[in-house]
Amino acid sequence: MCSNPMRYDAIIIGAGPAGSSTARLLARAGWAVALVEKSQFPRRKVCGEFLSATTMPVLEACGVADAFSAAAGPPVTRVGAYAGSAKLTAPEEKVWGRALGREYLDLMLRDAARDAGAVLFQPAEVSDLWREGESSICRLDGGWTLTAPVVIAACGSWNAKGPFAVNSRRAAPSDLFAFKAHFQDSNLPAGLMPLLAFPGGYGGLVHSDAGRTSLSCCIRRDALAKARARHGGKAAQAVLAHIMATTRGVHEALYRARLEGEFLSTGPIHPGIRRRYADGVFFTGNIAGEAHPVIAEGISMAIQSSGLLARLLIEGRAQDYAQAWKRQFAPRIRAASLFAHLAMNDTGRLASRAVLAAAPRLLGLGARLSGKVPLAA
Ligand SMILES: Cc1cc2nc3c(=O)[nH]c(=O)nc-3n(C[C@H](O)[C@H](O)[C@H](O)COP(=O)(O)OP(=O)(O)OC[C@H]3O[C@@H](n4cnc5c(N)ncnc54)[C@H](O)[C@@H]3O)c2cc1C
Repeated sequence: MCSNPMRYDAIIIGAGPAGSSTARLLARAGWAVALVEKSQFPRRKVCGEFLSATTMPVLEACGVADAFSAAAGPPVTRVGAYAGSAKLTAPEEKVWGRALGREYLDLMLRDAARDAGAVLFQPAEVSDLWREGESSICRLDGGWTLTAPVVIAACGSWNAKGPFAVNSRRAAPSDLFAFKAHFQDSNLPAGLMPLLAFPGGYGGLVHSDAGRTSLSCCIRRDALAKARARHGGKAAQAVLAHIMATTRGVHEALYRARLEGEFLSTGPIHPGIRRRYADGVFFTGNIAGEAHPVIAEGISMAIQSSGLLARLLIEGRAQDYAQAWKRQFAPRIRAASLFAHLAMNDTGRLASRAVLAAAPRLLGLGARLSGKVPLAA
C-alpha cells in the first residue's frame, strides 16, 4: 500500500455531467467525495448540447436548474427530420428540452459539486487503480494517491484509457467519427430540432445559448473517406460540405451562417451497453452505456444514471444498481441503435413517400421511446 493516501468515502473519476452530478448528490448526503478531472475547464466538447426536459428534476437536485434555465437556448418545441430533400416536422408541440454549450453546463455542474463539499482534483488524471481489501487505491498523475471503499468511473468512453479502456476492435468501415460546430445567424426555424439523415451518417441541429446554432453529427469511416475525396479540405470541412450537398434542410439553415470557433471532432465512438460494476468500481454515464447520439439523450442519461447510482448508494442498496440501470436505460440505447441504422443506411427510405406519410407520428413516437418524454405522458 502507498504511504498516506488521502481517504474519502467515494472517489469519482471524471467531472463530465455523470461525475459532477454524482459528486454533488453524494456530497450533499454527507459523503466525503473526491472528484478527479483530467481536463481544464471550461472546455467545449463534441456534443449537440440538447438536454431533454425529463432531466430537469436531477438538475434541480444538483442545484443548477435555475442557472441552466437562465443560460440555455430557447425551448425546443418541435422535433423533425431533414433527409435528402425531405423536411419533416412532428405535429406534437411541447417543450422537449433546451440546449446549452458544454463549456457552460459542465462548469455549472462541477461548481455545484464543489459547493456541496466535493474536493476537486483538476487537472489530474487517474493513471492507475487497484483494490486492497475493502478499499480501492487511485493514483493520480499529479502525484496524489487517494483511497475509498467506493470508486465511481464517470470518465466517458471516447478517450478512456488504462483501467477504463473501452473494448477497441480493429478499424472497420462502419466506425463512427463525431463532429461538432457552432454557427451564428442560421436560418433554422425557431423551436425546431431536426434529426439529420445523410448518406453514411446522421446528426442534429438545434438553437443553443447566446444565439448559436449547434450542428453535431456522426459519420461512418468509409463515408468520411468518400466525402474527403469528393470535397477535399480538412475532415470537418469535407463533412460539412457532404451534409450541405446531400441534405436540403441543412443547406437552407446554414448557407448564410457564420462558423463560430473551431470544429471539434472525436472518435471512433462506441455506442452500446457495458458493465455497471466490477471489483469495487461503479460505472455511470457513457462508460456504463452509450446511446447513438441520434436521439440526443447522452447527457440526460448520464445525469439520470448518476441520480440513480447516488440514490442507491445513499440508501445502502448499491447491489441493485446494475439491474435498475438496465431497466431504465437499455430500451433507450436499443431504440437509438434502431434510429441510427435507419438514418445512416436507409436515408432514401427515410425520405420515401410511404415513410413521409407516417413520419410525423413516428417522430413523436421516436422522441417518446428515446426518453425525451415519459412514455405514459
Ligand atoms: C456527435 C454527438 C452529439 C451528441 N449530442 C448530444 C445531445 O445533443 N444531447 C445529449 O444529451 N447528448 C449528446 N451526446 C452525448 C453526450 O455528449 C455524452 O453522452 C455525454 O458527454 C456523456 O457524459 P459523461 O459524463 O458520461 O462523459 P463525458 O462528458 O465524456 O465526461 C467524462 C469526463 O471524464 C474525464 N476523464 C476521462 N478519463 C479520465 C481519467 N482517467 N481521469 C480523470 N478524468 C478523466 C474527461 O476529461 C471528461 O471531462 C452527443 C454525442 C456525440 C458524439
